[in-house]
Amino acid sequence: MATNPYILDGKALAATFHGYLRAKSNEVAAKLGRPPGLGVILVGDNPASRTYVANKEKTAIACGLHTADHKLAAAARFDEVQEAINDFNAREDIDGILLQLPLPGSLDSKKLIPMIRPDKDADGLHPFNQGLLMSGSGGIKPCTPLGTMYLLDMAMAGGCASIEQLPAADLSGLRAIVVGRSILVGKPVGMLLLERNATVTYAHSKTPELPQRCAEADILVAAVGRAELVRKEWIKPGAIVLDVGINRTADGKLVGDVAFAEGCERARAITPVPGGVGPMTVAMLIRNTVQCCVDRHGLAIRI
Ligand code: NDP
Repeated sequence: MATNPYILDGKALAATFHGYLRAKSNEVAAKLGRPPGLGVILVGDNPASRTYVANKEKTAIACGLHTADHKLAAAARFDEVQEAINDFNAREDIDGILLQLPLPGSLDSKKLIPMIRPDKDADGLHPFNQGLLMSGSGGIKPCTPLGTMYLLDMAMAGGCASIEQLPAADLSGLRAIVVGRSILVGKPVGMLLLERNATVTYAHSKTPELPQRCAEADILVAAVGRAELVRKEWIKPGAIVLDVGINRTADGKLVGDVAFAEGCERARAITPVPGGVGPMTVAMLIRNTVQCCVDRHGLAIRI
């Protein structure tokens, strides 16, 4: 069907966000006397986590934020991580806190995330913010789902010249399927689609007839972590396909949960991997930090 689908360039959209957020940071600095601050906690020496954290800090600085970090050894005790969180919770110059996941060893993120102040929860994973999402009452939204929604808005609008001009699409009458039901991605992205009036189906490892269910959807979000699980026949002709998955193949290549070339034969718009949702996740961390700063200080700045 769609021979030339709209490739949803997450890198380009993230770059547009960076410019927008730089301007917002300058506004904050003018009103507050300092830029928004991001506090990063990295535990251990997982190479992927180190790369992610370095990229997040670099992007934050490029967007005009200031950053601080606590880098703890892999053998760090629970109370040492707690101390790092408490330090950032108390610091006036820190507005958003990132606790890089996964945590090594026996450290339990389910016990540590709730220790982050909800109004500094830049990742949007605190149970309080999850509750606000569930009740549709605002709060800080998790980064990957939020970035996925902006890519969907770009697909619906047919482009994005500026963040201010990008409308939040009304999805009334559209069917969406979310494959994956994690707290980090699947569940919240489904809630955000529902908020926009889509008719949402959640699918997971126990869902029968998954290809058929997917092929009914106008919007397909894949958040599974299985290389190229979603094939051509799973995609409704003309659907919008948002691929959150990041998988490394045996030959070291990064691929998504969707067989991209096959997806291009069916979809009207599709995200690539890499270069789709990934860069937007980082941009949303910065966005959320700026939002935390603006909200906590009651600044009259629209994010
Ligand atoms: P999880 O492992 O927490 O969740 C995976 C989900 O996929 C589960 O709900 C699971 O079902 C479901 N699932 C697994 N196998 C199948 C299958 N064969 N058919 C249908 N459903 C299946 O992963 P995350 O949500 O944390 O991450 C998902 C992917 O997104 C990963 O590749 C991850 O690397 C990537 N990711 C990308 C980000 C980005 O910035 N681009 C950010 C975060 C994650 P069940 O619940 O039944 O077990």
